[in-house]
Amino acid sequence: MASTPSEPRVGTVHLVGAGPGDPDLLTLRAARLLMSAGLIVHDGLVSPEILAMTRGGARLVSVAKARSNHTMKQEDINALLVREALAGQDVVRLKGGDPFIFGRGGEEAEACRAAGVPVQVVPGITSALGASAAAQIPLTHRTSASIVSFVAGQCKGLSDQNWAGLAGKDRTLVIFMGLATAAQIAEKLMADGLAPETPVAVIENATRSAMRVLRGPLAGLPDLVQGHRVRSPALIVIGDVAAEQDTTVRAIALEAAQ
Ligand code: SAH
Repeated sequence: MASTPSEPRVGTVHLVGAGPGDPDLLTLRAARLLMSAGLIVHDGLVSPEILAMTRGGARLVSVAKARSNHTMKQEDINALLVREALAGQDVVRLKGGDPFIFGRGGEEAEACRAAGVPVQVVPGITSALGASAAAQIPLTHRTSASIVSFVAGQCKGLSDQNWAGLAGKDRTLVIFMGLATAAQIAEKLMADGLAPETPVAVIENATRSAMRVLRGPLAGLPDLVQGHRVRSPALIVIGDVAAEQDTTVRAIALEAAQ
């Protein structure tokens, strides 16, 4: 659109999901935006292979957030997006997984809208779905899970959260950011009546080359995390579907059912 001095062009902020890491799991829209964008503001969770898809000359700004290593505060990220857009720059704000699943995309969209900056949201494959596919854990299952919940397990607010009913028979609980609090999480769920032998899977670096899937009972979750030195990013899946599947038996059962 042509701009006039009285109506300066305002750029659009695209909140884009980069998926869990494997570039093949980007949406076509995300890939197209990424390859044409002039400015990409990205998290630490976005994989290097995906950043390598950006065009030569594009400006890449990392606003990586780690639990102990905040490079930029959320308000400063919001301000950066607004400032660039008001200066006429289209911005790709690239986030790991899906921008609206524990990605603070909601806050960024609000900040943009409040400043009169148009926002578009491009969904991504959340790590919960990428990890469950890669580890072959069906989050729902006709016989063992008809409810699935995504929860944030970081320290802040954990003790105030009410997880009663989110885990147990016929339910799957997927915990994001739960490594540091794995021991409290296991304790809390068992205190709420969950059986200590409830199956648990920890999926580290889902869909990336360094992916690991560790399994055990709920009571052993802290040891699983510490003993194997699990590092972020990792998800914890709790419920019957997290048990090791005997793929041969299941394949035969499926064949028989057809
Ligand atoms: N918006 C993201 C989640 C951001 S919160 C999404 O939709 O996936 C950050 C948490 O996501 C991490 O602490 C971890 O629990 C999880 N996570 C993100 N990428 C992951 C990956 N490749 N493997 C395992 N967990 C991942």
